[in-house]
Amino acid sequence: MGEDTEEKSVAYEPTHPNATVTQEGYWTGKNDEFLPVSASDLERYTYCPLSWSLAAHGHAGKGEEIIKGQESHKAIHHIYSEYQHLRIQTKRNLLIWQWWYAVVLVLVVDAVLFRGLSRSNFDTDEFSKLLATWALSCLVVGICALLLPWRNLIGMEIHQDSTIHFSVENKAVVEPYFEPKGFKGGWFEGGRIEVAFFMAAIVMALHSMALRFASDKEQAAYVFAFIAICWTLLASFQLQRALVANSKSLDIADENNITIGTDVAYSDDETSSDLLIDKTTGLRGRPDQIVIIDGEFIPVEQKTGRVPKRPHESHSMQVLAYAHLIETTTGRTPPYGILRYGEEDLHVIDWNEKTKNSLFDRVKTIQEAMAKGGASRNHTREGKCRNCSRRYACPDPLSP
Ligand code: SF4
Repeated sequence: MGEDTEEKSVAYEPTHPNATVTQEGYWTGKNDEFLPVSASDLERYTYCPLSWSLAAHGHAGKGEEIIKGQESHKAIHHIYSEYQHLRIQTKRNLLIWQWWYAVVLVLVVDAVLFRGLSRSNFDTDEFSKLLATWALSCLVVGICALLLPWRNLIGMEIHQDSTIHFSVENKAVVEPYFEPKGFKGGWFEGGRIEVAFFMAAIVMALHSMALRFASDKEQAAYVFAFIAICWTLLASFQLQRALVANSKSLDIADENNITIGTDVAYSDDETSSDLLIDKTTGLRGRPDQIVIIDGEFIPVEQKTGRVPKRPHESHSMQVLAYAHLIETTTGRTPPYGILRYGEEDLHVIDWNEKTKNSLFDRVKTIQEAMAKGGASRNHTREGKCRNCSRRYACPDPLSP
């Protein structure tokens, strides 16, 4: 056997020769950890086991298509990140607008009340003292709630936005303002309830002072009305910012065939390491995107290049891997995953008992090939070999 042939024959060797099989048919290596199988392994193995083995032995794919694909993925990531950034901006600005609008309403009510008070015999001093007492009570309760871990004591469950499961450093995800991941409350850590108490204390204290010290109630009513007008202008500016961000996000959605209203929980920028891992099988991977449709996390796999007549099995297998990883990570079962070729060719890949079993069988087969070696070509299609990015290292290509 020549040197070149020997080099190529390495593809038939096992990568984990000391692995052992479990009762369920999975394979474990060092420290009894399951042999790692990525979603890309599943794609390559299904395409051609020999191509997968070449990759596992360090033969990277070569060719223009690979470079083009990487560039397209970067562009798609940029589009989705920009789209989601605008969605977040829209929601944030609308939230602020709602709060500011509530302030306007309070100011208008104050203006009307103060005008009425100026013409009545109502004892504002007494009412001012009552408000001050309420404000002080709210402040004390708020401080106690901030200091003591009362949520633990009463066994209160904290429901957090599950999108944080996909949050990694520097990623554009929807992070909650209050009660982020790991929030327990107490020991100077406050949540929504503490904020509500402090806000109530501030509002009542301000009103108490206004009643106590505003000697001319009629004049105070005009001041409130003037502030309400200024605040309305500010609120309108905030609303305009929300509408502009929303309009831009709609344009991006329209241009890139993204369903309007879809939220992106995660978009892969190819810089972080394996994001989703199932330690009970060794499966791992990073979907191109995870979108939220009808409240469910749905994995999206983007494929660039030629659009096939029907989805390739190798690509569908990748989507199934991501569906399983989302289920394992979040505890919520996505009903399907999406395989997208180009901009308009979308396919739904069902996630059910049948497809689950086919995924797990394939994972076990790949782990067995890692342990025993011997991966071989699974097809007789010359065109497939001609377009194969690892053909340069293949010991058994079809046609020279
Ligand atoms: S050249 Fe053909 S047989 Fe070899 S790895 Fe590629 S697809 Fe498989």
